[in-house]
Amino acid sequence: MTRIKAEPITIHSPGNVLSVTFTLDEGVPYYQIHRLGQPIIRNSRLGFTLKEHPDLNSNFKILTSKTRKQNKIWEQVWGEKQFIKDHHNELRVELLKMGSQDRSMTIVFRVFDDGVGFRYGFPAQKYLKQVEILDEKTEFTLTGNHKSWWIGAYQKNRFEYYTEETSINDVETVHTPFTLRTDNGIYISIHEAALVNYSTMTLEHTHGYTLKSNLVPWHDGVLVRSPVPMVTPWRTIRITDTAGDLITNYIDLNLNEPNKIEDTSWIKPTKYVGIWWEMHLAKSTMEPGPNHGATTENAKRYIDFAAEHGFEHVLIEGWNPGWEGDWSAKGVVFDFTTPYPDFDLEEVSRYARQKGIRLMGHHETSANVENYETQMEEAFALYHRLGISVVKTGYVGHGKEIFWTDINGSKNYEWHHGQHMVQHHQRVHEIALKNEISLNIHEGLKDTGLRRTWPNIMTREVAKGQEYNAWGKDGGNRPEHTVMLPFTRSLAGPFDYTPGLVDLLYKDYRLGNRVKSTLSKELALYIIIYSPLHMAADLPENYEAHPDPFQFIKAVPTDWYDTRVLHADIGNYVTIVRKDRNSDNWYLGSITNEEGRLLHASLGFLDSTRDYVARIYRDGPDADWESNPYDMDIIEEIVTSKTILPLRLATSGGQAIQFRPATEKDLNRING
Ligand code: CA
Repeated sequence: MTRIKAEPITIHSPGNVLSVTFTLDEGVPYYQIHRLGQPIIRNSRLGFTLKEHPDLNSNFKILTSKTRKQNKIWEQVWGEKQFIKDHHNELRVELLKMGSQDRSMTIVFRVFDDGVGFRYGFPAQKYLKQVEILDEKTEFTLTGNHKSWWIGAYQKNRFEYYTEETSINDVETVHTPFTLRTDNGIYISIHEAALVNYSTMTLEHTHGYTLKSNLVPWHDGVLVRSPVPMVTPWRTIRITDTAGDLITNYIDLNLNEPNKIEDTSWIKPTKYVGIWWEMHLAKSTMEPGPNHGATTENAKRYIDFAAEHGFEHVLIEGWNPGWEGDWSAKGVVFDFTTPYPDFDLEEVSRYARQKGIRLMGHHETSANVENYETQMEEAFALYHRLGISVVKTGYVGHGKEIFWTDINGSKNYEWHHGQHMVQHHQRVHEIALKNEISLNIHEGLKDTGLRRTWPNIMTREVAKGQEYNAWGKDGGNRPEHTVMLPFTRSLAGPFDYTPGLVDLLYKDYRLGNRVKSTLSKELALYIIIYSPLHMAADLPENYEAHPDPFQFIKAVPTDWYDTRVLHADIGNYVTIVRKDRNSDNWYLGSITNEEGRLLHASLGFLDSTRDYVARIYRDGPDADWESNPYDMDIIEEIVTSKTILPLRLATSGGQAIQFRPATEKDLNRING
């Protein structure tokens, strides 16, 4: 199978939909991608500039090229879809850079019908024992001035921004997933998979329609340091006919390594409540005082509430020293093992266990990673001893974070998304794994599908979440924000958005801020935004005052057998249906931006041999996000797989539906 070859090498996807062509042009490596004969990515450069070694981006010869086929189905431990098909063709090119000392580099392409992934490798070799990467040359040259959706990189608030919608001409340097639509209606999203011991890839708009890998550097300007042999993360490009197909595209998961955790019985998708929203509302405080939120008494109130309503975890934030004053200022030194005097951690844990509830641990680091690293072994061991199986971490800092103190005692900085931070998150994960603890990561790194390999990396925030509705300077997230997320941030992976507010106006606490949607839309977010851990974010007293919408929040699962997209228009509307992994029930969520609209859902996904009860939570006739957000009708109908269900969505409205197989009694009761 090995051959010397100089002419272009083309590999097709299994269904001949996509093709990748690799070429050396006078020794410089390039690739291009076609879809059904049309160019998607034009000739784009590959390679590296290295420190203290010749560059690995020119003067190459192809030493060998090999192809391989893969067609198999694997099972997720938990997820948005239980069984995932991995069907691709692989091309592995081994390149040799000739010189007085030969050096080699591999590039592996995996070509699916709905996307392409490629990664570099530096195999073990005589004259390259370690690398310091000064530039990754990878380019993505698109074919026109496509419309694109993105958030900017190198910003103060990490990933917590609205999605911008511009043409490529107006893009500067952006985070991934970077989503595009061509003039002839092809959807593309560029991201990366398996970000391990490398730095985060952002995309820099360099010229024309070309974006180039721009790796987040170390403090000294080196981008990545690694011993050889090594491989880079996969650069991934989803390419689909519809916006909805971007959502049900699993190439990033397919490009990650299979699950490495043998016993996964302690990793459980579920829902949680907690002492969290009340502090964002300023009903209570993180720091001790007359209104401290994390008191023993308040924790027991939440535990009682969780036990009564079937939530498995209670998150408690503000329980440990460090929250006094301006805690989000640079580098507050938190204590991760000592509770505040008014919070009896041992007693609260005992009380929770007795009620069949687990606490969800909380480590806010204020991005002082140096401080966290000295305590995290002990901190996770403490939580393990208390029976805690999920920890939420937080990294509220300002982009450049304190990572180490030098010999003179002065603080030094690394970027939030550089290789040092990637390595830090790997260390946190190792310790969490040792203690059988799953992670819910806030403000950390974007997801790159590592949940396949390490299913205890369950969910993340790493985006602009619900909390901005409490104190965002613009009064709350824009109506279109959650209609952008499924096509951008959520393509990376699960998102702990913390939905479920039933008091949308919170006038007693935050005048001038509110949820800019209807109540039905807030419920629909449980389906629209995928997360194996979903919060019911509101205050217990608000759920007690709104028992009807709370029924849906209690019923909705967080682990799915299947996911399908019925309607998709980026930033305008989206309808997603998901089948429960543990029952025959289906759930539908549909949401719109500030425009009201009428959609029609074909229920062909239901089992055609049965009748179903559809329990529908929909915008009432007078619902309007600004003037009448609570107008909601809850009705039950008998439906079948042949039903076409009209979805009437109010301005910034939504609809949430549970479908369950109908019993004889249901048929008599509902059909009368
Ligand atoms: Ca946050």
